[in-house]
Amino acid sequence: MAYLLEGETGDWEVVIGLEVHAQVISKSKLFSGAPTDFGAEPNQQVSFVDAGFPGMLPVINGKCVEQAVRTGLGLKAQVNLRSVFARKNYFYADLPQGYQISQYELPIIGEGELLIDMPDGTSRAIGIERLHLEQDAGKSIHDQHPTKSFIDLNRSGVALMEIVSKPDLRSPEEAGLYIAKLRSILRYLGTCDGNMAEGSMRCDANVSVRPKGATELRTRCEIKNVNSIRFVQQAIEYEARRHIEVYESGGSIRQETRLFDSGKCETRSMRSKEHAHDYRYFPDPDLLPLVVTQDFVDGIKATLPELPDEKKERFSRDYGLSVYDAGVLVAERASADFFETVAKGRDSKLAANWVMGDFFGALNASGRTIEDPPVSAADLGQLVDLIKDGTLSGRLAKDVFALMVETGKSPSSLVEERGLKQVTDTGAIEAAIDAVLAANPDKVEQIKAGKVALMGWLVGQVMKATQGKANPAMVNELLARKVGA
Ligand code: MN
Repeated sequence: MAYLLEGETGDWEVVIGLEVHAQVISKSKLFSGAPTDFGAEPNQQVSFVDAGFPGMLPVINGKCVEQAVRTGLGLKAQVNLRSVFARKNYFYADLPQGYQISQYELPIIGEGELLIDMPDGTSRAIGIERLHLEQDAGKSIHDQHPTKSFIDLNRSGVALMEIVSKPDLRSPEEAGLYIAKLRSILRYLGTCDGNMAEGSMRCDANVSVRPKGATELRTRCEIKNVNSIRFVQQAIEYEARRHIEVYESGGSIRQETRLFDSGKCETRSMRSKEHAHDYRYFPDPDLLPLVVTQDFVDGIKATLPELPDEKKERFSRDYGLSVYDAGVLVAERASADFFETVAKGRDSKLAANWVMGDFFGALNASGRTIEDPPVSAADLGQLVDLIKDGTLSGRLAKDVFALMVETGKSPSSLVEERGLKQVTDTGAIEAAIDAVLAANPDKVEQIKAGKVALMGWLVGQVMKATQGKANPAMVNELLARKVGA
């Protein structure tokens, strides 16, 4: 896609901060025991607490607290041992309590950092401002009836982590890289499934522009609830262009909340921006301050998996991969594991080429997932072994790989049953070469006269005559000897 890049923005710099709402992986809701499974019939997962019945009291779900701390540690962030839940008051039909229980002045997680991986292999640190826990609202459904709206409260009370970045992002591209990296970390941690299409990760983008070199922040607009990386990028791009146009024609930007229309690829004003004081935040009197111990935090820290940044570093160090290749392989934990199974004890660059080339190609084409791959890691490893020990040439290996995808059989059994073994028998190769030379005396003459480039053509003829099974290195060597070139 075409990004809004330097040069295109003229004398303007784009300033972006993102707020990501990530649904916590937990069997039950933040303050009630109702289940959280996606796709249930409307209003089947609603407790009295979630429906805002009078007198019902919220009880904090320890699992959600653990998940928030886990995420904070993964973002190298400050964990606040004491945090406070606050009521954010507003009226909406899908918010039966009349307020959202959130965290305001004292969030559970403070400042942290996330590295985005730039296409040139470098990384850039983006500041994390905070992460707080809050309840999700219910869902209003407007497209089922011409004059009525419906309310589904299944989502009401589900735990969200709102992860707020500092305004450190400078282009739609960087915003996309940030979301992708955040999603990768959350998945590694097992704290959010990162499924944007199902709404378990939603993004609000704060966008402003300022003259290049300026340090002040100008008025920003917030684009709400965008549910794919591409849409976030398009929304930012549109919004940044709009701000630049307004400023350049002498106007000023009004702080407001806007919606992104993915059909028209534009943002539209939704309401003038509400300020924090409009919500009348105050500590929720139904809930004590949330206190966790350092032991609790340390216990979670001890169970953290190796995260993408560390894994990337180890992959490029131990397997000799480029930073870019390592970055691609570690984006998903399952592909990283797959690669390691193939590469362990083998030529790691050859393994990486096969995983990232033919294997990823077949994976995409098959529509299957890395957890249920078209070719197992063990079989792909065996294929690498067969290339390495000379049984298969690179070309034959591609044929065998295609057959592996098609039949699900192991490479060694396919080589056996179809006689695909590479020919390394000197006599057989010589015979093929002699036949090719006898059929093409004119070419031989031309080579002897100095047209050395024709050697490649002769090699091709020999490979064709052996159905690609001859060892190419041996063909080259024997041919050169015979022609005397
Ligand atoms: Mn929020």
